[in-house]
Amino acid sequence: MCGIVGYVGNDNSLDVLLGGLKRLEYRGYDSAGVAVLDPHGTLHTRKRAGKLKVLVDDLATTPIASGSTGIGHTRWATHGGPTDGNAHPHLGDGGRLALIHNGIIENYAPLKQELLDAGDTFESETDTEVAALLVGRAYRETGDLTEALRHVAGRLEGAFTLLAVHADQPGVVVGARRNSPLVIGLGDGENFLGSDVAAFVEFTRRAVAIGQDQLVTIRPDSVEVIDFAGNPVETSEFEVAWDASASEKGGWSSFMAKEISEEPEAVANTLLGRTEDGVVVLPELEPLGDALLRDIDRIIVIACGTAAYAGMLGKYAIESWARIPVDVELSHEFRYRDPVLSDRTLVVSVSQSGETMDTLMAVQYARQQGAKVLSICNTQGSSIPRESDAVVYTHAGPEVAVASTKAFVAQVTALYLLGLHLALVRGTQDRARLQKLTGELHDVPAKLSKVLEASAGIPQLARWMTDTQSVLFLGRHVGYPVALEGALKLKELAYIHSEGFAAGELKHGPIALIEPGQIVFVIVPSPRDPKSLHPKVISNIQEIKARGARVVAIAEQGDVDAIQHADEVIPIPLASPLFEPLLAVVPLHVFGMELASAKGLDVDQPRNLAKSVTVE
Ligand code: GLU
Repeated sequence: MCGIVGYVGNDNSLDVLLGGLKRLEYRGYDSAGVAVLDPHGTLHTRKRAGKLKVLVDDLATTPIASGSTGIGHTRWATHGGPTDGNAHPHLGDGGRLALIHNGIIENYAPLKQELLDAGDTFESETDTEVAALLVGRAYRETGDLTEALRHVAGRLEGAFTLLAVHADQPGVVVGARRNSPLVIGLGDGENFLGSDVAAFVEFTRRAVAIGQDQLVTIRPDSVEVIDFAGNPVETSEFEVAWDASASEKGGWSSFMAKEISEEPEAVANTLLGRTEDGVVVLPELEPLGDALLRDIDRIIVIACGTAAYAGMLGKYAIESWARIPVDVELSHEFRYRDPVLSDRTLVVSVSQSGETMDTLMAVQYARQQGAKVLSICNTQGSSIPRESDAVVYTHAGPEVAVASTKAFVAQVTALYLLGLHLALVRGTQDRARLQKLTGELHDVPAKLSKVLEASAGIPQLARWMTDTQSVLFLGRHVGYPVALEGALKLKELAYIHSEGFAAGELKHGPIALIEPGQIVFVIVPSPRDPKSLHPKVISNIQEIKARGARVVAIAEQGDVDAIQHADEVIPIPLASPLFEPLLAVVPLHVFGMELASAKGLDVDQPRNLAKSVTVE
C-alpha cells in the first residue's frame, strides 16, 4: 500500500522527500527509506524499520548528503517482515541504482529464480528486489533509465508503482505504474512524483494523473509520459482542490480528532452546488446517459470496510426514494463470484482514496461485463474515477487518519444525493417531497455540530472502559450499518473485540454472548415515526438488561424510554429516519477514538493497517 515520493529540482531533495513521506505515512508505516543522488552522482540511501520518525531521527544523528534528485518510501509490508533489510529502496546495478515499489509483483518467484540462476544474490525477502535487480541489468544493456524500466515493467505481473534513480543520471527520476497510484506534481524548475497529491501539495497544486501501464520521466524542467510500448501519451493537468494546511493537524491532538471535528463540513461541502430550485442535480451523471438513468433496473454498490457500510445506508435511501433494487457487495467477493450484470445495471463503487485495489479490480471487471460504473470518491487524480464512466466526488478534504470518519459521512451524503437525483429523473417522488428531503439533507451539517457538542461526555465514558474486552453494537434498519461501523471503528482503533448486529437477530444467536457487565451500544430509532421500530428496540434493550448487559443508547433527545432503560444515553437531534444514521454514527467515531486514546494507542496509525488498501 505504501507511500511513494520522487523529486528533481534544487539541492535539498532530502527535506522534500521527508516532508512528502510525512504526509504519506498514513499509507504504511512498517519502515521508511530514501535514496538521494548528490551533485557528483553518488547515491546515498538510508532505510529503517518502524515509523518515519525512526528514519528521521537516524538521519538527524548520522546525516547523509543531500542532492537535487531523490526518492522516498513508507512501506506496508507484503513480502518479508518489517525489517531494515526489507525496507525500500532496494538496489540494483551493483548499488548504482535505487528503486522503490508500491504493490505486489505476482510473478516475482520465477523472476527471482531467473536472477539467481544468472548469479545475482538477494539482500531482502521482498518481491521488490527482483525489480531492482532486473532494472539494474536492463540499464547495463540500454544505458537509459526510462528504457530500462520500460523493458522490465512489461515483464512484471500484478500491481506496481515503481520509481527509480541511477547514479549515472542525476536530475532524472523515472516512474512506472500498473494498478497502483502515481501522480505528477508540476513545479517551477522542479518536479515531483507521489502516490497522491499530498506528497507535494506543499510545493505545488498543479498535478497530472498517470494512466495504467504508463511511464513518466521527470527532470527539473521537463515531464515526459509514455506507455509501456514506448508511445508518447497526452496528459491533462488538474488543480488540487485543497492546500497543504488541509492536510496538517492544525493544533489538534490527532488527525482523527481533527477529521471528526470536520464531519459537519465534509457533509456541507459534499452538498455544495448540487441543489437547484430545492432539488438535487448531479450533472456529473451525464456521461451515463439519460436513458440509463431512467431504465436502470438494478444498482450494485461495490465497496470494502467502512465504505461498504456507507453503501448499505445508500441502499435504504435509494430503494426508498428512487424505487430501484440495490445490492451492496464487498468488492473482493463481487468480482470472483460470476455476478449477473446487464446493460441496465448501474454499478456504484465507493472508495475514499480511489485506489482501493479490490474495488478497482471490481470496477474493471464490471465494465468488461458491459455494466456502467459510477464512482463515489474523495481523491482527485486517483485510479478508480479514471476507470469509471462517471464520478461524483465527495468533498471531505484530505483524510489522513487511517480509520475513516469524515469520509464515511461524505460517502453517505453522496449516495443520498444519488438517490434523490434518481428519484427526480424517474419521477418516483413528487417535487414537494424531494424539496423536503433535500432540505433535510442540508440540515444535517448543523445537526452534526450539535452532536459533536453533545459528545463531550464520551471521553469519560471511554476512560471507564479501558479494561473492556468486548463491546457489542445493536441497530435495526438504518441503525444496523451504524452498528457495524461502530464495531469496526473499535476493532481498528482500540483493538477490542467488537461486533455489530441487527437487533432483530439478537434472539437468533448473539444474545448468548450477553453476560453480566457486557457493554452493548444500541442505536435507538426515533419514537416519533409512526412506522418506527422504536418499541422493538426498547424491548431489545430490556431483554439484554435482564441478562446483566450495560447499555449505552444513542437516542433522539428527549426519548424517555431510552432514558428509562439504558445506563447511559448519548442524545442526537431530531431527524427523520433516513437521516438519523448520519447523526448517530458520529458519537461512535468519537467513542472509538477516545477509547483508543485512553488505552494510550496511536489513533491515527493503528497497528497492521494502512489507509489505502492498494494490494489485493
Ligand atoms: N511488496 C512490497 C514489499 O513488501 C511493497 C509493499 C508496499 O506497497 O509497501 O515490500
